[in-house]
Amino acid sequence: MKNKVKLASFLALSVTAANAQLADGRMNIVYIMVDDQSFQSISAYGHPLSKLAPTPNLDRIAENGLLFNCAFVENSISAPSRATLLTGLYSHQHGQTRLDGGLQSDKHFFTEYLQQAGYQTALFGKWHLKVEPKGFDTYKILNDQGEYYNPVFRTPESNGEFIREEGYATNLITDDAIEWLVQRDRDKPFCIMVHHKAPHRNWMPDLQYLDLYEDITFPEPATLFDDYNTRGDQMRTHELSVANHLGYAFDLKVRQLQNEPTLKYIHNSFYIAMNSMNEKQLKVWNEVYDRKNKAFLASRPTGKELVSWKYQRYIKDYLRTIHSVDVQVGRILDYLENNNLMNNTIIVYTSDQGFYNGEHGLYDKRFMYEEAFRTPLLIAYPSVKKKGGKCNELVQNIDYAPTLLNIAGVEVPKEMVGASLLPLLKGEKVDWRKSVYYQFYDYPSVGRTRKHYGIRDNRYKLIHWYGEGKQKDKDIDYWELYDLKKDPTEVNNVYDNPKYKKVQERLFYELQKKREEIHAIE
Ligand code: CA
Repeated sequence: MKNKVKLASFLALSVTAANAQLADGRMNIVYIMVDDQSFQSISAYGHPLSKLAPTPNLDRIAENGLLFNCAFVENSISAPSRATLLTGLYSHQHGQTRLDGGLQSDKHFFTEYLQQAGYQTALFGKWHLKVEPKGFDTYKILNDQGEYYNPVFRTPESNGEFIREEGYATNLITDDAIEWLVQRDRDKPFCIMVHHKAPHRNWMPDLQYLDLYEDITFPEPATLFDDYNTRGDQMRTHELSVANHLGYAFDLKVRQLQNEPTLKYIHNSFYIAMNSMNEKQLKVWNEVYDRKNKAFLASRPTGKELVSWKYQRYIKDYLRTIHSVDVQVGRILDYLENNNLMNNTIIVYTSDQGFYNGEHGLYDKRFMYEEAFRTPLLIAYPSVKKKGGKCNELVQNIDYAPTLLNIAGVEVPKEMVGASLLPLLKGEKVDWRKSVYYQFYDYPSVGRTRKHYGIRDNRYKLIHWYGEGKQKDKDIDYWELYDLKKDPTEVNNVYDNPKYKKVQERLFYELQKKREEIHAIE
């Protein structure tokens, strides 16, 4: 009975009697997770991109709690990250190391423990795992990646059948979440998980925002034209660059160029994405993008000018989908405020991983370079020590399950490897981890990102690229070391540089020690 759950006494809970509005005084949990959002796109983080496309509602969460500057995932890709959130385990421990199945059915989800402890639990939106949701009183989930327009959902009652709903995914998921909050049992605490499809590729904005930011030119990141000098083969063979791997029709919305050569999966995805729109929606969509495409089709820029054009088209649509998220998160926050729930509810806002907004010439995730490894994390918490504060401790998505159980006063099962963030929220002095471990396994796959693992402390990052090359790739055994203080954009690999001999030895030792400790696999 290792995982037997027992309720902690109410005295141990962080919420004070004065704050408590529930009969039993336990905290409610609102967990909002988006798909592929960068910290660069949340204005609370202060990045130049978000200054031009602010997210006032997401910032409200930070204002009511803590912004985590150094939050990371342990594997920067959807399904593994989602399984880690639910189980509190590293990818190789729960089995979902890659996008395809693998999550071991005997692993427990933290929601199961909450449910056993008397929490009302619900999940709305993206699921993206092959196993059934466990520990939810109710759920309404998208099919696989989900669609932006008129998506299909299934529920425990739909008997495996997906049912199509008219509307825009971000809005529909929010409607469902608020509807559930309204009908909930007021005498019991709740945990609601709201998992948006946005801002995932192919970045399809809501019709009303198709022209938002149209007159703005967003700043390009310093490394948009990274030449990968000092980097290994993995940066020359990937298929995730703004310059060469965005589909004209699918990603860039130039339907006039739908027959331009592109990767096969991008070509097929275009028809799938467009098929979910109804005639009326498609008419509005085509009118707007046809108008926008006119000048581009007339001039057909080349070289760097073309890359810059692609970047603007990509980043604007990406930020437009985030604008919808911001507005819809605002509706949930309004509900919580209007119903006097801010004082006994923790609100977690995060993404399943970070994302490249052109850094290193990339538009995706997967790599251990900062923007995808690092992930936005904002937590509103009534008993936070300093509202609007910033935390620079190294936290990771293995910490979410222990944190939410801890908040609920439920004992954290020993098998969970992360640590509760509650002491950080309360501003308590605590002996925190000094480094975080990362591993990416999904190769060969979309994007051709090579397998790698590594370790990052508060200044340095060591990465090992490894594994047999498939198809046209060579075998790889390559190391990288970055000094993030001197080289924050990670363009200067200093591995084997004599000046960094000691640092390299220390990190190498720490990495091996960590891999042994967690029984890491190749
Ligand atoms: Ca994702």
